[in-house]
Amino acid sequence: QRDFERRFNIPHITDIFPDADPIPSTFCLKMRTPVMEDFAGGYPSDEEWHGYINKNDRVLLKVIHYSSPTSAGAECIDPNCTWVEQWVHRAGPREKIYFKPEEVKAAIVTCGGLCPGLNDVIRQIVITLEIYGVKKIVGIPFGYRGFSDEGLSEMPLSRKVVQNVHLSGGSLLGVSRGGPSVSDIVDSMEERGINMLFVLGGNGTHAGANAIHNECRGRRMRVAVVGVPKTIDNDILMMDKTFGFDTAVEEAQRAINSAYIEAHSAYHGIGIVKLMGRDSGFIAMHASLASGQIDICLIPEVPFHLHGPLGVLRHLKFLIETKGSAVLCVAEGAGQNFLGRTNATDASGNTVLGDFGVHIQQETKKYFKEIGVHADVKYIDPTYMIRACRANASDGILCTVLGQNAVHGAFAGYSGITVGICNTHYVYFPIPEVISYPRAVDPNSRMWHRCLTSTGQPDFV
Ligand code: ATP
Ligand code: MG
Repeated sequence: QRDFERRFNIPHITDIFPDADPIPSTFCLKMRTPVMEDFAGGYPSDEEWHGYINKNDRVLLKVIHYSSPTSAGAECIDPNCTWVEQWVHRAGPREKIYFKPEEVKAAIVTCGGLCPGLNDVIRQIVITLEIYGVKKIVGIPFGYRGFSDEGLSEMPLSRKVVQNVHLSGGSLLGVSRGGPSVSDIVDSMEERGINMLFVLGGNGTHAGANAIHNECRGRRMRVAVVGVPKTIDNDILMMDKTFGFDTAVEEAQRAINSAYIEAHSAYHGIGIVKLMGRDSGFIAMHASLASGQIDICLIPEVPFHLHGPLGVLRHLKFLIETKGSAVLCVAEGAGQNFLGRTNATDASGNTVLGDFGVHIQQETKKYFKEIGVHADVKYIDPTYMIRACRANASDGILCTVLGQNAVHGAFAGYSGITVGICNTHYVYFPIPEVISYPRAVDPNSRMWHRCLTSTGQPDFV
């Protein structure tokens, strides 16, 4: 059997209901002016529908062949196999669907932290559901909590409600961490008659979505649970990028530029910008690359010394002596080994990180005082401003496609899947495959080397 069949089999409704009969899709692909019948509840009867995605269409996961294990990035391939073909299911509308639109009650829930583009995805899911002919669409307020907390009632959604929501950041539905158990969530779904659930969130939310999918299967419920990965950090495995990341990198430029101007205008100015990235430094790396104004970029994946002859502080002194100013960009998860371990966790059980940005600011001030060199240190933390931004054009398009594909996936009868972009093609992944661990910057990758070339920083070990 091909690796494709073995690794990327995505759960389908027929796995538990082998006799489930599909019906012709109510989603018409042919672009045309709407006619009166479209609004009268009847399905368009054009015989020439075409352009649907076949269930066997697939996308190659890795399009590069490393000729040697010493090539940058090559260690991520299986050392026992020089060429692994891995395939992923192509996303998009199918000719046959497994839900009758008039029997669908769809719900959307957003969990975790904020990320630019949440509203764009909500909007597009609602619009696409309506195009399929779904009448009952609701939003679950404040994440999974909305399934259990008394006083939080579901929000009816329609094209009219969501028409302009993408013009502002945040989430129309609200977000939260923590909340009810999976079985309580599924009880609530049964009670409300929800048979399509769209879950927008990160690793934690997707672990929840997969558990909800399994619980629904255990109870033999005819339900589709489809995730849309929301991670501003771009830390989901196998995906080219996740929505919100582009916007975050773009918005980070403003903070970096401010830090640069502050540092440049002060005598011996040092600007420090803290960016998102708990486990993965993609935002810090890309923002450094894009801005061209960063001298030192510190990310969680690459260890470094602060003190000593090879440390960051010594390099800062060198920069002050030679350039007169310096700008640092640090990911929030960097340098955790320098901070006292806290056992604190948030409502979802995630470890609360120490604040390395504040730490390096204090250490820098202390260091320059000790060596008797004047330094004017300015610290900028734009993280919450970035999270709350509205999506930029590129993320807006990504959100639109992901939102549409989430609905296509649910109608095609898939459940326990998430949507993504892989080698520029849109695909469906089985949830467990993409959340087994966070995607991280490979310190041997070409991209990290490019970042080092751009900043000119040495190895700090
Ligand atoms: P972010 O990237 O913003 O952290 P996230 O989805 O990882 O997003 P979390 O706060 O970790 O955010 O989780 C969101 C929701 O998922 C919470 O309501 C939490 O209770 C639930 N959740 C987290 N992990 C699991 C799990 N393993 N099983 C079931 N539910 C989970
Ligand atoms: Mg998380």
